[in-house]
Amino acid sequence: MSANINYKLFINGTWRVGGSRADLPLLNPATEQEVGRVAVASASDLDDALMSAQASLPQWSNMPAEERGSLLIRAARILKAKAETAAAALSREQGKTLGEAKGEYARAVEMLEWNGAHAGKTSAPFPIDEKRIIVPEGIGLVAAFTPWNYPAVLNARKLGASIAAGCPVILKAAEETPSAGLYMIEALQEAGLPRGVVSLVFGNPPMISEHLLASPFVRAVSFTGSTPVGKQLAKIAAGNLQRCVLELGGHAPVVVFEDADLSKTAWAISEYKFECAGQSCNAPSRILVERSIYKEFLAKLVRAAEGIRVGAPDDPDTDMGPMANAKRIEAMERLTKDAVNRGANIETGGKRIPRPGFYWPPTIVSNIHPKSQVLHEEPFGPILTVAPFDTIEEAIEQANDTQYGLASYFFTESPEIQNRMIRSLAAGAVSMNHLKGVSADAPNAGIKQSGYGYEGGVEGVRAFQSLKLVNGVKAVSAQ
Ligand code: NAD
Repeated sequence: MSANINYKLFINGTWRVGGSRADLPLLNPATEQEVGRVAVASASDLDDALMSAQASLPQWSNMPAEERGSLLIRAARILKAKAETAAAALSREQGKTLGEAKGEYARAVEMLEWNGAHAGKTSAPFPIDEKRIIVPEGIGLVAAFTPWNYPAVLNARKLGASIAAGCPVILKAAEETPSAGLYMIEALQEAGLPRGVVSLVFGNPPMISEHLLASPFVRAVSFTGSTPVGKQLAKIAAGNLQRCVLELGGHAPVVVFEDADLSKTAWAISEYKFECAGQSCNAPSRILVERSIYKEFLAKLVRAAEGIRVGAPDDPDTDMGPMANAKRIEAMERLTKDAVNRGANIETGGKRIPRPGFYWPPTIVSNIHPKSQVLHEEPFGPILTVAPFDTIEEAIEQANDTQYGLASYFFTESPEIQNRMIRSLAAGAVSMNHLKGVSADAPNAGIKQSGYGYEGGVEGVRAFQSLKLVNGVKAVSAQ
């Protein structure tokens, strides 16, 4: 892909520059240089997307689910064939390393494949008893909003589930990472997607969400992003009683008990935390360590973090690239300053790297005051806090002392402690002795201020279906 490409909108089966004729600059976070322009949707572009999606609905929702599944599997193959080129564009726009971007595209392909392979099953009628069946039906038009941190995976996750369910989708992808939308649309189009079923728009996020959600055609909203924006969308969606799937922020604790393998655990935390420069909702951010091993573990964690090679995303020796944008650097500066003003020690990192690009080093903060902002606001960057605990009760209390409830992790070999931690950690996902993100085949959702509504697995498709109860039938009819 050549530099300075203009990313267009995709509406009613064709690419267009948009009625507003306006565009936005696209920056490479590794250089802060402009590498392209992104089209901005006008209200009439959005109306066209709404009308064409609604017009596609009868044919699309009546297409046998297996056919929609085959389309997704073909799209997965096409995306896989273009993954090298797509990953290079993603790395250049987002700042993640080329290796991470390739890994992300591999997962995006899996998301399409899984939803494709299970489309027949997730739309098949199923019995309640001998005289009643449930017929899953697509809920109608979905408005999907994806962020810039994992745009390929999240586009695939939302589109895969909506398409499997038989819903048209208007995707507002992140303006910061438009290529992930472009490659997804190209793959779907080449796979035979009917006109109007999926639209791709960019522009002013609040204007787009307000316009789309004001339409009674939109029956469901799927958003991944920050908690404040998720709440705003839920409020607007209430006006038309649109169903919401909200995957919002996280502030994941990792509890390390004294019997854990300390070197392996420190290495695993460091590797997972600093992927995508820590800009992941599932990234660990608060490390709680049993006091007997606190000093030893902290030293190992600092060594592991200092071993992360920060550099240009396209350099094969780089482990961690820059942050995605200037706003994230400002957040790192603010959170670090606040922690230090309240008495924290910076064990490593803590200052912007003086070179062009949004580079912030792996940072570990200890001796942290309980009121520090970094303990309460999602850091969304390469900052880890480390604190000791004395009892399991204290560890559980500290781990759960957050408004978020997305992911949590712990390390111990003791079956008794394992059982207690699984039951006590307040999060949508709990991982034991390893760190793992979302997968195509399992439902995942946050609790508390991390959102609601499942993505992934059968439940992820159900999120875009209504379950029609049919009384008085004898057998389950094939679709
Ligand atoms: P943000 O909340 O401004 O934006 C996050 C995403 O939501 C972006 O893609 C943006 O385009 C979109 N968005 C913003 N306002 C919107 C609106 N009114 N309607 C529809 N979409 C809207 O935050 P940001 O500065 O881009 O990112 C920083 C924060 O966002 C982080 O601190 C983190 O909490 C959160 N975030 C979370 C995830 C996640 O995976 N859960 C992903 C990205 C960002």
